[in-house]
Amino acid sequence: MIRYLLNLLGPTLLLSTMATTANAQDGIEEEARWSIAIHGGAGTIDRDKITPEKDAEIRAALNQALEAGSAVLEDGGSAIDAVTATIIILENNPNFNAGKGAVFTWDKTNELDSSIMDGSDLSAGAVAGINGTKNPILLARAVKDHSPHVMLSGEGANQFSREQGLEQVSPDYYATPYRLKQIDDLRAKKVSAADVDYKFGTVGAVAQDRDGNMAAGTSTGGMTGKRWGRIGDSPIIGAGTYADNRSCAISATGSGEYFIRLGVAHEICARIRTRWQMAIREAQLTVPKDKDDNYTYVIHASEFQLPDEEIQQIADDVIAELGALGGDGGIIYATPWSQAGYSFNTTGMYRGRATSEGEQSVAIYGDE
Ligand code: ASP
Repeated sequence: MIRYLLNLLGPTLLLSTMATTANAQDGIEEEARWSIAIHGGAGTIDRDKITPEKDAEIRAALNQALEAGSAVLEDGGSAIDAVTATIIILENNPNFNAGKGAVFTWDKTNELDSSIMDGSDLSAGAVAGINGTKNPILLARAVKDHSPHVMLSGEGANQFSREQGLEQVSPDYYATPYRLKQIDDLRAKKVSAADVDYKFGTVGAVAQDRDGNMAAGTSTGGMTGKRWGRIGDSPIIGAGTYADNRSCAISATGSGEYFIRLGVAHEICARIRTRWQMAIREAQLTVPKDKDDNYTYVIHASEFQLPDEEIQQIADDVIAELGALGGDGGIIYATPWSQAGYSFNTTGMYRGRATSEGEQSVAIYGDE
């Protein structure tokens, strides 16, 4: 189904299309919309595996993170600032596999990965295999804002962090008893480091601000028991994180190797962008023509949005392909048309979303 947005936007196309709307009848300016979605990891998350206390703790943490991001967006702040503020809260919460609470490598160290992308100019920053920085998302942001590079790794990235004056912590800051037990179990049982249930808790956020700009960010400790400098999808722009004002913002969580192979985050954005352009052309063909065979009006990109069902279908299709390859996990999305949602093939995903229309919801299990 094709839907048109009634608005009075000027003829600017693409990179900032959905900024303001106005009511054509009474001339009253409506405030432009914003939306945000967050995740705290995906995996075999079933009711019988989580105590009511833990369930409540996770929901409170997700709400706190959503509220931080929503406050930035409600005040007219940028999507990239909202994503940063949201992820800092989740990194500081020991329940998630990012910052404090990150999983351990085989050698019982922490190697953190993070990335962030601004959909307004496609600028991006990422760090891989770092430690010492309290909030890896701030280091990814510093790479984006203050270096000529997109991705830094290991000791060099740690040094850049110190030079940027970011808050440093001792190597044992990230540790929690739960994560220590996980690595001890894994080493004792020789469980595969790829076991999805030994790593869930990666965090991410995607947002659209009132100026129509999109942003995405992801932060993780990676996989419990990882070795040999293994890097997952979370710091890979196009795999775990992607944002483009012309299509969407995506943050992923799950078995990183598969997300890298499919280029999941970019793949979803590319399909949305292509579908949107096609849908505009299809809609134009339905516009009546005048006696000289000219269209009576030209459908403008800024007046056109893809329906919720199409966005969801595109995300679900890519996650189905991920599953067919053998990967598990999920993504959160936000679009320039204020849609914010999820797609995942695991039994649960810690997740939440909020919009300027007053929605705020968090969920854990697949059936809610
Ligand atoms: N995708 C992350 C990684 O592979 C882990 C996760 O999201 O659970 O490093």
